[in-house]
Amino acid sequence: MPEPAVSELLDLDRRHVWHPYGPMPGRVEPLVVESASGVRLKLADGSGELVDGMASWWSAIHGYNHPVLNEAAREQLGRMSHVMFGGLTHEPAVRLAKLLVDMSPDGLEHVFLADSGSVSVEVAVKMCLQYWRSLGRPAKQRLLTWRGGYHGDTWQPMSVCDPDGGMHELWTGVLPRQVFVDPPPVEYEEAYAEQVRAAIERHADELAAVIVEPVVQGAGGMRFHSPAYLRVLREACDAHDVLLVFDEIATGFGRTGALFAAEHAAVAPDVMCVGKALTGGYMTMAATLCTSRVAEGISQGEVPVLAHGPTFMGNPLAAAVARASLELLLGQDWLAEVKRIEAGLREGLAAAREVPGVKDVRVLGAIGVVQLDHAVDMAAATRAAVREGVWLRPFRDLIYTMPPYVTGDADVARIARAVCAAAREG
Ligand code: PMP
Repeated sequence: MPEPAVSELLDLDRRHVWHPYGPMPGRVEPLVVESASGVRLKLADGSGELVDGMASWWSAIHGYNHPVLNEAAREQLGRMSHVMFGGLTHEPAVRLAKLLVDMSPDGLEHVFLADSGSVSVEVAVKMCLQYWRSLGRPAKQRLLTWRGGYHGDTWQPMSVCDPDGGMHELWTGVLPRQVFVDPPPVEYEEAYAEQVRAAIERHADELAAVIVEPVVQGAGGMRFHSPAYLRVLREACDAHDVLLVFDEIATGFGRTGALFAAEHAAVAPDVMCVGKALTGGYMTMAATLCTSRVAEGISQGEVPVLAHGPTFMGNPLAAAVARASLELLLGQDWLAEVKRIEAGLREGLAAAREVPGVKDVRVLGAIGVVQLDHAVDMAAATRAAVREGVWLRPFRDLIYTMPPYVTGDADVARIARAVCAAAREG
C-alpha cells in the first residue's frame, strides 16, 4: 500500500496537474519520485529505486545529484539566479557561449541562449526567415525537412514534425505549410539522395532553410540514417541558396558517439540547436548557434535585430550549470564511456531479436532501440521494465533507452534486460 502522503500527492496530481501529452482529468497513474542520485530514481511509495534508462529524455548525461553540478548551481545561486538579459550581460552566459563556439562545428560563432529546445528551434527558424527578408528575398520563408522528424511542441517546430500520423497531426492545416521529403533510408542510397537534391532545387525560391535531426530522428520514431545524407544536404543547400539547420537537441554532446552527430559526416550547418544535455539535465536551457554570415545578414535588414527576447533568455543559473556540465563532459574520456554503453546495449539487446513481435533492434552510441511490429501496450511495457528495476518510457511501436553516460556495466545490462522484458510484455 502506498504511504498516505503519496496517495494524497497522486490524488492532487490527478485533479490538477497536466502531464506532457497527458489527459485531463488525469487518467494516468504516474510514479512519484522522491529524489534522484547517480543513475537511480528513488520512488516515494517506498518500493525502492529505478535505474533511469531515459536520462530524463536524453538530458541527465552525468546522472543526478552530481557534486560538481550541485556546486556550480549553489555557487551561482549565491551570486545571482536571474537577471534580465536585455542590455545586461554576465560571466556565466559569456563563458558558456565561448565554450559552445569552441566545441561546435566550424563556423558557428554566435549563440542565442534560450530556455527550451522548442524555443531554440523557434529562434533558428526566425533567424533563417529574417536572414532572407534582410537580404531582400522575402519569398524564401518556407522550410524543407524529412518526414518522421521531431523538433518540439511550439508552433514553428510543430510545423516541421511528422505531418502524417505524428504527434501534431491535430494541427495539420493551421500550421505553416512546409515541404516534406521521405525520411532517409538507413544506408546511403543514391536514388534517395537524388530525390532530396531535386526537392531542394525545385523549392529553392521559396525555401529559407532545410532543417533536420542529423543521423538520428528521435522522438518522431528513433530512426537512424547514414551521415552521408548530411553532405548531400550541405551541397544542395549551398548550390541553391538555402540555409541548413541541424537540430542537435537530442543528438548533441556525445550521445551518438560524436560530440555532435554532424561530425560523423564532417559537415557544419549554418544554424545549430542544442538543449537537453546542455545543462546535464539540471536546468532548462537550450541554445541556437549561427554563423557570421547569418548574423551579419540579419543585421543588414530593415529590422537589424534578432526579433526574439522573452524574459528568461540567458538565465545565469542555467548558464553556470551548463558550463560546469560541458567542462565535466570534455574533461573525461566521454567517448570511451559512450562506446562502453554502446557495447553493453549491443550485447544485452541481442536477446530482443528472439522475442516474438520484435521487428528491429538497433544501437548507436548510447542509444538502444527495439521496434515492435505492433503498437506497444505502454502500461504493460512500463510495468515490465519497473519490475526489472528500470525506468523506461515506451511509445508508439518503440521501446528504447538513452541512459546517462555514467551508467555502470551492470546497470546497462539491467536496462537491456528491462527493454527485452518490456518488448515481451508490451
Ligand atoms: N528537437 C529535438 C530533436 C528533440 O528531441 C526535442 C525534444 N524531444 C526538441 C527539439 C524539443 O526540445 P524541448 O522538449 O526541450 O522543447
